Amino acid sequence: MTSKAFNPFDMAQAQFDRVADVLDLDKATRDLLRYPMREFSFAIPVRMDDGCVKIFRGFRVQHNDARGPCKGGIRFHPQETLDTVRALATWMTWKCAVVDIPLGGGKGGVICDPHNLSMREQEAICRGWARAMAKNVGFATDVPAPDVMTSPQHMVWMLDEIEAMHGHKEPGFITGKPVGLGGSLGRTEATGYGLIFTVREALKEMNLKPSETTASVQGFGNVAQYAVRLFQQMGGKVIAVSSWDQEDQISYTCRRLSGVDPDELVGIADRFGGIDKAKARPLGYEVLPAEAWIEQDVDILMPCALENQVTAENVGRIKPRVKMLAEGANGPTTPEADKVLAERGIFNIPDFLANAGGVTCSYFEQVQGNMNYFWEKDEVLGKLDVKMTAAFIAVSEIARRQKLYMRDAAYVVAVSRVAKACKDRGWV
Ligand code: NAD
Repeated sequence: MTSKAFNPFDMAQAQFDRVADVLDLDKATRDLLRYPMREFSFAIPVRMDDGCVKIFRGFRVQHNDARGPCKGGIRFHPQETLDTVRALATWMTWKCAVVDIPLGGGKGGVICDPHNLSMREQEAICRGWARAMAKNVGFATDVPAPDVMTSPQHMVWMLDEIEAMHGHKEPGFITGKPVGLGGSLGRTEATGYGLIFTVREALKEMNLKPSETTASVQGFGNVAQYAVRLFQQMGGKVIAVSSWDQEDQISYTCRRLSGVDPDELVGIADRFGGIDKAKARPLGYEVLPAEAWIEQDVDILMPCALENQVTAENVGRIKPRVKMLAEGANGPTTPEADKVLAERGIFNIPDFLANAGGVTCSYFEQVQGNMNYFWEKDEVLGKLDVKMTAAFIAVSEIARRQKLYMRDAAYVVAVSRVAKACKDRGWV
């Protein structure tokens, strides 16, 4: 979340400025891409369970739609700000472009805390958000999805409201719906699997097989669990995962040098991916401090929990054997740590490429919804592999050809695709 000291939109603009210099973009293109194309800020009046009316503030930002309808989640958060939503919408533009799906970037939010709201009140906020945005969202304009503290249930309420207003079914209007009500098979696996598809391609470039490598993972939630599963199916070994202990309010690392078993760990984890350490010990896991995950003597580190986890303070603890950092989480590496990783020659798969499997599968959900024809899971995951592999190869080729760090190469690929679309349309 944002604070007075840190403004994520300033950061998104600074990142863009750097790439714009590398690409030598003209002034009009810079002026267009530095800011969102459209922004909506609106009131959502809700009659609360106690009878009073409370006004919630909702947002939607459509950063750029030159490559297709905007795409991005809706967050419910008490500290939501328009600048946070602007930054996240900008990053969605680059994420959709780097995986080459025909979508632009959007993001939405409501200032609220679902912990303090009944389900009926949350439903009223969702329906209010949909009513406020009804003329400016849709499968051909802007497609929302779940995000922080919103769920498939919230998406279904919004879909229902939009369909009631438009007078027809419109399943491609929103993604992240439950399977059976317009959701796509494979969405649960998509981000973790997508991460491992890019790891597999990076290992190929290093002439390594997954079966010759070991990994340590931060987090054991949706992204981490499926990443661990697929990496181990490919023959790799994960020796450590970390998670957040809700009871003790600290995180710690579970290590088993013979390899962790994700199914066994899911059996002793809460629904937020917090592993019960008392149950882990008898299964042969050592319980180590929070940051032990980064200090393991492995080939690959996968931060899959939170932002700002690989920092100037702990980057020096990364062992010499580590060859790759694959960023499942959003923004896990600070710019200072990034510099050290680049100097040490540790290969980076940057977040907006590495974790783009989720949005790619959401795009598949939208496509299936528009056709009203749903694919088998293998077909979804096969198409995901094709997209992620192609995206990785495109970025790594630019990195090699232009001697760029992978994060910079990913930005170059994404921003140049969006800039070209704006130019081809005659906007700049
Ligand atoms: P999640 O809530 O399912 O899991 C988060 C995990 O992190 C849990 O295991 C939790 O115990 C652990 N955790 C929390 N605080 C921790 C700490 N301080 N130290 C160690 N572990 C901690 O979340 P997720 O969906 O797996 O998302 C993880 C990251 O991936 C986030 O940055 C998210 O924005 C990003 N991401 C997720 C998706 C997706 O499809 N789920 C897509 C793109 C990006």
